[in-house]
Amino acid sequence: MKTETIEILCCPFDKSDLKLTVVTQSLDREVLEGFFTCESCNRLYPIVQGIPIMNPDEYREGKLERPLLERWSKQLEAKDAVASRRLLETLDQ
Ligand SMILES: [Zn+2]
Repeated sequence: MKTETIEILCCPFDKSDLKLTVVTQSLDREVLEGFFTCESCNRLYPIVQGIPIMNPDEYREGKLERPLLERWSKQLEAKDAVASRRLLETLDQ
Protein backbone atom coordinates (compact mmCIF):
# COMPACT_ATOMS: atom_id res chain seq x y z
CA MET A 1 0.00 0.00 0.00
CA LYS A 2 1.38 3.38 -1.04
CA THR A 3 1.59 6.38 1.21
CA GLU A 4 -0.77 8.42 -1.04
CA THR A 5 -3.50 5.85 -0.44
CA ILE A 6 -2.91 5.98 3.29
CA GLU A 7 -3.57 9.70 3.45
CA ILE A 8 -7.17 9.44 2.24
CA LEU A 9 -8.18 6.69 4.65
CA CYS A 10 -10.35 7.47 7.63
CA CYS A 11 -12.16 5.37 10.22
CA PRO A 12 -15.22 3.74 8.57
CA PHE A 13 -17.21 4.13 11.78
CA ASP A 14 -16.75 7.74 12.77
CA LYS A 15 -14.73 9.19 9.85
CA SER A 16 -11.95 10.27 12.18
CA ASP A 17 -8.36 10.45 11.02
CA LEU A 18 -6.34 7.29 11.42
CA LYS A 19 -2.85 7.06 12.82
CA LEU A 20 -0.53 4.75 10.90
CA THR A 21 2.11 2.57 12.54
CA VAL A 22 4.42 0.80 10.11
CA VAL A 23 5.80 -2.61 11.09
CA THR A 24 7.46 -3.68 7.82
CA GLN A 25 8.08 -1.76 4.63
CA SER A 26 9.28 -2.80 1.18
CA LEU A 27 12.38 -1.27 -0.40
CA ASP A 28 10.25 1.19 -2.36
CA ARG A 29 8.62 2.26 0.91
CA GLU A 30 5.31 0.54 0.43
CA VAL A 31 3.73 -0.48 3.72
CA LEU A 32 3.55 -4.27 3.86
CA GLU A 33 2.58 -4.76 7.49
CA GLY A 34 1.33 -2.32 10.05
CA PHE A 35 -1.86 -0.99 11.50
CA PHE A 36 -4.12 2.02 11.78
CA THR A 37 -5.52 3.21 15.05
CA CYS A 38 -8.50 5.50 15.40
CA GLU A 39 -8.00 8.07 18.13
CA SER A 40 -11.71 8.57 18.68
CA CYS A 41 -13.13 5.00 18.90
CA ASN A 42 -9.85 3.16 19.63
CA ARG A 43 -10.41 0.61 16.89
CA LEU A 44 -7.37 -0.99 15.31
CA TYR A 45 -7.17 -1.90 11.63
CA PRO A 46 -4.32 -4.20 10.59
CA ILE A 47 -2.51 -3.96 7.25
CA VAL A 48 -1.67 -7.44 6.01
CA GLN A 49 0.46 -8.00 2.89
CA GLY A 50 -0.14 -4.39 1.96
CA ILE A 51 -3.92 -4.58 2.33
CA PRO A 52 -5.75 -2.69 5.08
CA ILE A 53 -8.39 -4.81 6.85
CA MET A 54 -11.21 -2.38 7.54
CA ASN A 55 -14.21 -4.67 7.83
CA PRO A 56 -17.03 -3.97 10.28
CA ASP A 57 -16.64 -5.60 13.70
CA GLU A 58 -18.93 -8.53 12.90
CA TYR A 59 -16.68 -9.59 10.01
CA ARG A 60 -13.48 -9.40 11.97
CA GLU A 61 -11.92 -12.57 13.29
CA GLY A 62 -10.14 -11.76 16.56
CA LYS A 63 -8.73 -15.27 16.80
CA LEU A 64 -7.02 -14.92 13.41
CA GLU A 65 -5.64 -11.46 14.12
CA ARG A 66 -4.24 -12.30 17.53
CA PRO A 67 -1.02 -14.13 16.52
CA LEU A 68 -0.23 -11.34 14.07
CA LEU A 69 -0.73 -8.58 16.63
CA GLU A 70 1.38 -10.46 19.16
CA ARG A 71 4.23 -10.77 16.66
CA TRP A 72 3.99 -7.09 15.70
CA SER A 73 4.00 -6.06 19.33
CA LYS A 74 7.31 -7.87 19.82
CA GLN A 75 8.77 -6.37 16.65
CA LEU A 76 7.80 -2.87 17.72
CA GLU A 77 8.91 -3.15 21.34
CA ALA A 78 12.34 -1.63 20.70
CA LYS A 79 11.48 1.07 18.16
CA ASP A 80 7.96 2.15 19.16
CA ALA A 81 7.04 1.19 22.72
CA VAL A 82 3.79 3.17 22.65
CA ALA A 83 2.50 1.34 19.57
CA SER A 84 3.63 -1.96 21.02
CA ARG A 85 1.68 -1.35 24.22
CA ARG A 86 -1.34 -0.28 22.20
CA LEU A 87 -1.34 -3.63 20.41
CA LEU A 88 -1.22 -5.51 23.70
CA GLU A 89 -4.13 -3.47 25.03
CA THR A 90 -6.17 -4.41 21.96
CA LEU A 91 -5.46 -8.06 22.64
CA ASP A 92 -6.75 -7.73 26.20
CA GLN A 93 -10.15 -6.40 25.14
ZN1 LIG B 1 -13.05 5.35 14.78
